[in-house]
Amino acid sequence: MDLYEHQGKELFAKAGIPVAAGHVAYSVDEARAAAEQLGGVVVVKSQVLTGGRGKAGGVKVVKDPAAAAEAAEAILGLDINGHITRRLYIEAGVKIAKEYYFSVTFDRSAKMPLLMLTTMGGMDVEDVAENHPDALARLHVDPALGYRGFHGAQLMSKAGIPVEERKALAPLLATLYSVFEREEAMLVEVNPLVLLEDGTFLAADAKVTIDDNALFRHADVEAMRDLAAADPQEQAAREHDLAYVKLDGDVGILGNGAGLVMSTVDVIAQAGGRPANFCDVGGGASAEKISTALGIVLSDEKVNSVLFNIFGGITRCDEVAKGLLGALETTEIRAPIVVRLDGTNAEEGRALLAEAARPEITVEKTMLEAAATAVRLAKEAS
Ligand code: GDP
Ligand code: MN
Repeated sequence: MDLYEHQGKELFAKAGIPVAAGHVAYSVDEARAAAEQLGGVVVVKSQVLTGGRGKAGGVKVVKDPAAAAEAAEAILGLDINGHITRRLYIEAGVKIAKEYYFSVTFDRSAKMPLLMLTTMGGMDVEDVAENHPDALARLHVDPALGYRGFHGAQLMSKAGIPVEERKALAPLLATLYSVFEREEAMLVEVNPLVLLEDGTFLAADAKVTIDDNALFRHADVEAMRDLAAADPQEQAAREHDLAYVKLDGDVGILGNGAGLVMSTVDVIAQAGGRPANFCDVGGGASAEKISTALGIVLSDEKVNSVLFNIFGGITRCDEVAKGLLGALETTEIRAPIVVRLDGTNAEEGRALLAEAARPEITVEKTMLEAAATAVRLAKEAS
C-alpha cells in the first residue's frame, strides 16, 4: 500500500524525524486557511500516489495565503502521470541549503534491506544511478544484525557527506531505518532529505510503501487507505478476498492458484497478447465465487476476452464448470470466455460445458491453445 506524502510524514513525525508543519487541504478555501494558519512562505503540494510532482507543476512555493489559494486552484485537478490531484498538502516553507536523497528498500537478489544515499538529491534517483553511479552510495543491512551506527557512518562516508554534517544526519538515517522496520515497509524514500540553513536536517518529501501482507498488523496505516483513489476492480476484489492485479492489456485472466495464474500471464504474452488483469479465484471455486471474480474481471472496460484457466487438483473441474455455468446466469457477459480445464474430472467438466453449448464460451484443451484463442478473440473485438 502506497502512502501519500503527508501520511508518510505522519509516520516520520511519530518516530521523531523532523518534518515541516503542514495541513491537508481538499479545496482552494482550505488551502488558503492552511496557509493563513502556518503563516509566511508555504509550499503547496499535490498529493498523488506517484512521483515527479515537482516537474509536473504539482509543487509550488508561495509567499502568502492569496498566492497559496492561486497555487491550489492551479494544482487541484492537475493530472500527474494519470493521477488526478484531489488533495493538497500545505507545508510551512523551509530554508534549504542542500538537497540529499536517502532510501531504504528491499534488494530481493541480496535478500536484505538496501540503504541508498546520495548528495545529488531533488532529482530522479534513476538519473543519478545511470549518469553518476559513483555518487550513489549503497549498503546492505543484514536483518539478523539490524541497523548499527557503523552502517550510517559507512554510508555517509561512501556518499561523500561533508564530515561536519554527519553528526546531525546519522540519527535521521537510523530513525528512518527503524520506521522501515517497524512499519514493515517495502520502501521508505526521502527525496529531498534537506540540510537547512541552520545546519539541521529535515525530511522534505516522503514516499512510503507498506507491505500489503503485513497490513493486518498495522490498523493505523490501513485506516489511511484512500478508497476513492483505488482502482474500482481492485477495491471490489479486496472486499471479496480475491487476489486481483490490474495490468494494461486487453485479455482478462481467471485461474485457480497463484502459480497457475502467473504462468497464464506468461502464456498470454507468449501467444502475442497482453493481459488486462489477473484474478485468482483460489480453491473450491463455488458458482458464487466464480461469478464475483468474473464480474470483477469483466467490469474492466479494457477486457476484450477472458481466459479462464483451471487446473483441478482438490478443486474438481466438473464443479468449476457448474460454477461457471451458474455464473453465466447472474453475470452480464460482454466478452467471449475461453476455458481450459485440466486435472481432476476435466473430461466431465468439458462435457458439461459442451452440453450447455453457450455461445460465449469456447473450450480449448491446452493452455497454449486457450491463450492463442483468447488473444485472437481480443484482437477481433478491439
Ligand atoms: P516530487 O517532485 O514529487 O518528488 O516533490 P518534492 O516533495 O520532492 O518537491 C519538489 C521540490 O520542491 C524539492 O526538491 C525542493 O527543491 C522544492 N522546495 C523548495 N522549497 C521547499 C520547501 O520549503 N519545502 C519543500 N518541501 N520543498 C521545497
Ligand atoms: Mn521528492
